[in-house]
Amino acid sequence: DRLVTPAADGEDQAVEAALRPRQLDEFIGQERVREQLSLVLQAARQRGSAPDHVLLSGPPGLGKTTLSMIIAAELGAPIRITSGPAIQHAGDLAAILSSLTEGEVLFLDEIHRMSRPAEEMLYMAMEDFRVDVIVGKGPGATAIPLELPPFTLVGATTRAGLLPPPLRDRFGFTGHMEFYAPAELQRVVHRSAGLLDVEIDPAGAAEIAGRSRGTPRIANRLLRRVRDYAQVKHDGRVSREIAAQALDVYEVDARGLDRLDRAVLDALLRLFGGGPVGLSTLAVAVGEESETVEEVAEPFLVREGLLARTPRGRIATAAAWRHLGLTPPAQGGR
Ligand code: ATP
Repeated sequence: DRLVTPAADGEDQAVEAALRPRQLDEFIGQERVREQLSLVLQAARQRGSAPDHVLLSGPPGLGKTTLSMIIAAELGAPIRITSGPAIQHAGDLAAILSSLTEGEVLFLDEIHRMSRPAEEMLYMAMEDFRVDVIVGKGPGATAIPLELPPFTLVGATTRAGLLPPPLRDRFGFTGHMEFYAPAELQRVVHRSAGLLDVEIDPAGAAEIAGRSRGTPRIANRLLRRVRDYAQVKHDGRVSREIAAQALDVYEVDARGLDRLDRAVLDALLRLFGGGPVGLSTLAVAVGEESETVEEVAEPFLVREGLLARTPRGRIATAAAWRHLGLTPPAQGGR
């Protein structure tokens, strides 16, 4: 329930469909992936055949689902959407694969979380457009081969490194999605504001973008909270000042840190002089579980260069002191 989580919540899901770009040239940022993908799709269209399978890797909320829908739209093909955790048995996958139509795009989110037997079935399906359906059990079990129509698999994963090499190798193209630059996110905010009928000036969009942790999903979510504030407290128009005031109310600071992130930094600086301090001690100091500090707060703090994990414990960087408006002690910090 954090405003800055990259994972989708119920409200996100309800509005995201309306905010999704539908074509490749409407998709903002990710220049390299877009260019590479555009070539793959154009070549397939020219040949009149299904393109190679596509793997999209990167953190949540950067637009993998959106891109998969764009791929289908660009190919003029229907799309079926499912996810690794939803496919626990090979039979689940066989049912999906055997009902695909020719040229259909199958989007498999969180592909690294599929069960092993399903994964093995997928190898053959990707390579030969064929699956062996096992009927019966024990010595009497027989494999019935089933031909599949050519389809394009678009797999998405937050951790390409977790995929078994045989699966990774069966993708003809891997797109590595990166966090968005502030100027790109500003364009995302501006575009979404237009679709949501929110009047926003460029500085207002930049303010929201700067607090969105490089992630379009977060940018769209913050925009909705700013919209509420602008409507209730003012005349609905969003300027830099209104955006900053609104996000201050929601405790998302100028750099995108929220209450928990700041509490961790604050304890590290004020109680432990900038560290090094062990994770569990730091967690007790902020009244959270170690896992919460480690998995929820730290990744972004590390990414922002505010906190370092060292064998001796957690250390605040000079940027962390500056960010909280504090002066590092002569011996503390780095
Ligand atoms: P997850 O892996 O968590 O499902 P995802 O990477 O699939 O996330 P999407 O659901 O595609 O992310 O995107 C999240 C939201 O961000 C959507 O509302 C989408 O419209 C918006 N978005 C993502 N990328 C872009 C972009 N390049 N331009 C404009 N909007 C974008």
